[in-house]
Amino acid sequence: MTGHEPGGQVPVLMYHAVADEPSAATRRLSVTPRALDEQVTFLAESGYTGMTFSELARAFATGAPLPPRPVVFTFDDGYADFAESAWPILRRNDFPATVFVTTGWVADAGPDASGKPLGPMLTWAQVRSLAAAGVEIGAHSHSHPELDQCPAVDLADELHVGRTLLEDCIGAPVRAFAYPFGYSSPRVRLAVRAAGYRCAAAVANVWANPAGDLFRVPRLTIRRHTDAAEFATIMTGSERIFWTDRMLTTGWAAVRAARRARKRVGRNG
Ligand SMILES: [Zn+2]
Repeated sequence: MTGHEPGGQVPVLMYHAVADEPSAATRRLSVTPRALDEQVTFLAESGYTGMTFSELARAFATGAPLPPRPVVFTFDDGYADFAESAWPILRRNDFPATVFVTTGWVADAGPDASGKPLGPMLTWAQVRSLAAAGVEIGAHSHSHPELDQCPAVDLADELHVGRTLLEDCIGAPVRAFAYPFGYSSPRVRLAVRAAGYRCAAAVANVWANPAGDLFRVPRLTIRRHTDAAEFATIMTGSERIFWTDRMLTTGWAAVRAARRARKRVGRNG
């Protein structure tokens, strides 16, 4: 064994678009199909076993034994290139995946369209056929707002509508959620639990811990500049590599709260 899995910790990888020519808005957090292929091959050759996000959460909740060297692949937003580029690579290597779909962004959302998709998105038919092929479909809100800054009514709506549309599409319960932008708060996590979800994915750039909060499962950000060496370092469980990211995420929540407070003052006064 080259890596270490201290205390049964598990790497949960977070991807977005997988494309050679991603939209400008998705570029920074995208990877090329070739990079994904290299990363997947590296994990397959290193003896990793894939789990869906819900399978991991269930194992954490029940204390069921984890497979050897578990890893979870997650893809946020529901970009069309998941079906075209990412899934064939994963399937070829026997890795399952969880796709967190923003329902208002679905390509043929029609009257349900909401928010501003950042690139070409999956269609409902694609979501259905991915689910039929064994991909776990999770929810990612309806319009992709910063949930920690949402009024209670909008928050409940975002959590309910997203889940209902997905369940209608795939004909199965949707139990996993991912916070848009990774932003949550105690109030948001409580609402997600109340909306019937069983687990939720955050972004904290540390490995997931069986003793951690199932509504705040941390994920590791994989992006365009993640090269093979950095990916290998991430997979050793080294946390140093993400230190700057974590500082930014923590600081940014305070900035956004201040901005919102200023807006409120501006409106009232
Ligand atoms: Zn997102």
